[in-house]
Amino acid sequence: MRDYAQALAQAEAQGLRRRLRKAEDLCHWPRITLDGVPALDLCGNDYLGLAQDARLKQAAAAAALRDGVGARASRLVGGSDAATRALENAVAQFVGAPAALVFSSGYQANVAILQALLEPGDWAFCDRLNHASLNDGVRLSGARFKRYDHLNPDHLHTLLQAAPPEANKWVVTDTIFSMDGDFPDLRALCELAARYNARVMIDEAHANGLFGEARRSGLAEAQGISEEAIAIHMGAFSKALGGAGGFAAGSQTLIDSLIQRARGFIYSTALPPSVIAAAHAGLCIIQEDREPLMRLQSLQAWFTPRLSQTLQPYSLRCDSQTQILPIVLGNQAMAVSQELLKRGYYVQAIRPPTVPVGGERLRLCLSAAHTRDDLEGFLQALDETLAQSRLQAHA
Ligand SMILES: *Cc1c(COP(=O)(O)O)cnc(C)c1O
Repeated sequence: MRDYAQALAQAEAQGLRRRLRKAEDLCHWPRITLDGVPALDLCGNDYLGLAQDARLKQAAAAAALRDGVGARASRLVGGSDAATRALENAVAQFVGAPAALVFSSGYQANVAILQALLEPGDWAFCDRLNHASLNDGVRLSGARFKRYDHLNPDHLHTLLQAAPPEANKWVVTDTIFSMDGDFPDLRALCELAARYNARVMIDEAHANGLFGEARRSGLAEAQGISEEAIAIHMGAFSKALGGAGGFAAGSQTLIDSLIQRARGFIYSTALPPSVIAAAHAGLCIIQEDREPLMRLQSLQAWFTPRLSQTLQPYSLRCDSQTQILPIVLGNQAMAVSQELLKRGYYVQAIRPPTVPVGGERLRLCLSAAHTRDDLEGFLQALDETLAQSRLQAHA
């Protein structure tokens, strides 16, 4: 019999025990209270501040009052209501694909999609730093799991060459990587995939609403990748779109295949009316109202060089070109995060196994809800904290 208490104690001793902090005053986000300490939240994924947007709140509240708070059953049992069908049509248009299917979360979408479309004997070629949900989906499918070096098409090429030509193959990647904020050359990946007769699935969770001039659907749009080059566009309503839920978009054949086989879709209750309504409102707002994204972009252009300047005296750097700004601090990450919180800035330290040992970091996420004053204050607190921890390291 496994001793779970001992495993917890061991994690505690290694400083790796995860704990839930008490978060309060969420209605004032990005100012929240964390474990009783008032702080500016700098690590949430609400990149456009839409989770507190009155238009989304009203859409959600109106749907709940009209249609109820629960969806009663799975879609295959309870039917597919007009609001969910309309959302799926909007998602298909958003990414420029023929059809789409909504899932209860981005995590569930990834697991369900990969488990449904891959089988033992198939091959999955995945960036080494892909999101955990993609890895879990591949594992559950029983397909051969090949991981290529992060953002390295040459390594992908070598692995593709080694697979049997007739095998069913998928290349799977995040677009904006959640822990590093970097991104692949999708054109290179798609060309390789086409050459080796592999399909491509992309996860745009951190790119939806932020990249692409016309529709803001994500990195594929921004890089001008044709719709046919990507078999499955996966995305999430839970980050820049301010709501909750995930989606898959692709050909009618692939979407119909998901309806047959995706267990996370078949055996889970449909999303409730309020969540569907908020997702649809978020999707409309990011395409119609350009103001939040313009604010985020100008904040990012202003902040990123200042962050680099602050880090430079400590031989630290942050090379990201996106709204996700990792500061890799190794084993100092936890202490720096705790010290920043005392000063009123909440940046969660990301630790193994989410990132590799030595890659412990602060993962800073900019949002349109932040102001220059907020970030000015943060940089000063960061400078003081790093100076103090350097003194301690040399003591
Ligand atoms: C957050 C995230 C998901 C999961 O989406 P949820 O809606 O939070 O379940 C999937 N993929 C990536 C890359 C993510 O960052």
